Amino acid sequence: MSDTVLRLENVEQHYEQGDNVLSILRGADFSLQKGETVALVAPSGAGKSTLLHIAGLLEKPGGGEVYVGGQASSNLSDDARTAMRREEIGFVYQFHHLLPEFSALENVMMPQMIAGLSANEASGRSQQLLDYLKVGHRSSHRPAELSGGEQQRVAIARSVANAPLVLLADEPTGNLDPETAGYVFEALGALVRQSGLSALIATHNHNIASMMDRCVTLRDGQVVDFKIQPAA
Ligand code: ADP
Repeated sequence: MSDTVLRLENVEQHYEQGDNVLSILRGADFSLQKGETVALVAPSGAGKSTLLHIAGLLEKPGGGEVYVGGQASSNLSDDARTAMRREEIGFVYQFHHLLPEFSALENVMMPQMIAGLSANEASGRSQQLLDYLKVGHRSSHRPAELSGGEQQRVAIARSVANAPLVLLADEPTGNLDPETAGYVFEALGALVRQSGLSALIATHNHNIASMMDRCVTLRDGQVVDFKIQPAA
């Protein structure tokens, strides 16, 4: 069995803006191996979100193919693509997108219950994840009662609640002060390593990027290797 958990092959994405066409992805190729962590580092507007949304089956590419766990996604029905996304992909956004009227624990339980776990099972696993991310003591609180760093740790717990094959994160600490971002990232890194997850993480933060196995960027619509310059 191949160890490639995510593969983008010859992916195209072009957006029409008035009379112009914005070519964001032009035959982009990318592979993520099992257990590998990769940072996607590129300036704002380069197409990081576009790439992550396509990789996470949230957006269909204009051309090319996305394979998740070796299975092509382009010919799937909408229902099958949604099922693949729910089962295999965890997504963390810059803003937490937690449901405001539910507690931290309930937010993490939700995707597991949708996947068929009992409330008891889901609650146990959710508490474990929140404990692991050092936010377990806040499990009964609603998102508005949590700090930004705590909210993001809950969002991370939710994203991995169904043990996805791939974790995709779009500037997950971009909204936090540098110290909090560091803590959240340490927690995320430990979780990824402990669970053998594969992760593609867009970040502006070169310190964070340098903790990953490798870095890539977007250039002329293609995914290319990127070397972090050591801080002066
Ligand atoms: P990044 O995440 O690197 O900041 P994005 O992927 O969000 O970049 O966007 C890349 C470019 O594509 C931006 O110029 C953005 O305005 C444009 N873009 C993104 N999505 C759409 C869309 N659905 N329609 C038109 N233009 C879009």
